[in-house]
Amino acid sequence: MMLLSSFLFGLIFGSFLNVVIHRLKTRQNVIFGGSSCPKCQTKLKWHDLVPLLSFIYLRGRCRYCRKKISRQYPIVEILSGLIWAGVFYQNFNNSQFSILNFQSIFNFQFLNAGYEIFILSVFLIVAVYDFKWKIIPDKAVYPAIAVSFFYNAFSAFKFQNETMEIFIYPLLAAVIAFLFFFLIYYFSKGNAMGFGDVKLAFLIGLFLPPFSVFFAFTLAFIIGAVFGIILMLFGKKTLKSQIAFAPFLVLGAVIVFFFQNFIDLLIF
Ligand SMILES: [Zn+2]
Repeated sequence: MMLLSSFLFGLIFGSFLNVVIHRLKTRQNVIFGGSSCPKCQTKLKWHDLVPLLSFIYLRGRCRYCRKKISRQYPIVEILSGLIWAGVFYQNFNNSQFSILNFQSIFNFQFLNAGYEIFILSVFLIVAVYDFKWKIIPDKAVYPAIAVSFFYNAFSAFKFQNETMEIFIYPLLAAVIAFLFFFLIYYFSKGNAMGFGDVKLAFLIGLFLPPFSVFFAFTLAFIIGAVFGIILMLFGKKTLKSQIAFAPFLVLGAVIVFFFQNFIDLLIF
C-alpha cells in the first residue's frame, strides 16, 4: 500500500520533472506558468496532464494538434514513480509506517527520503537532458551539489560521532571523482566526456557512500562500453560518434544506490 501510493506520487512528480526538463531547455521559469503542448503551444487542461493515463488515453498524441507526444513523458513518469517507491521502501521498510508517523513529519527519515528523491530526480533530469541534447544543465547540477553538500554537513552535525563517514569522506570521494574525470576530459580534449560529466561525477561523489562511488563509476564504464559496442555492431554509431555519458553515470549511481546493501553483502 505504501509502495503503491509512493509510486503514484512519483508518477505525478514525474510529470513535473518533464516540465522542468522542457523549461530548462527553453529557459522558461521552471516552477510557474501553465503547461502547453511543445508542438502547437495550446495550453493544456488538467485532464491532459494526468500522468501516464492521458498518454495512454490519447494514444501518445496531442489532443489538439494530433502530433506525437515524445515517449520521454511516460518513461520519465514511470522512472520517477520507481524512484519514489524505491526511496520509501529503503527508508521506511523496517519501521512501523503508520498515520501516526506523519505527526513527526520532520523526523530524520522523512528529511532523508526527501533529500534522496531530490538528488535522484536531478539524476533523472540530467540523464534525459544529456541523452536528448548532449549537454548537462548546470542549472540542475549546481543546486544539487549545494543541497548535497549542506545535507552532508547537516547530517554530520546531527550525528557528530560519524562526521568522518558522513561529511569528510564523501567530500574527499567527490574531489577524487572530480579530478579523475577531469583528467579524462582534459586529455581526451572533451571527446570522451564533457565538463558536465566532471561536475556530475562530483555530485555522485557527494551523494553515494564513499566506497560505493567507485563501484558506480566502474559500472558506468562497463555499461557504457557494452552499449557502445552493441551500437557499433548494429552499425548505428562509429568510434567517432558522440554518445552521451551522463545516462551511464546516472545508471551506475542509481544501481549502486538501490543495491548497496546487496553489494555490501557480496563484498564483506
Ligand atoms: Zn499540440
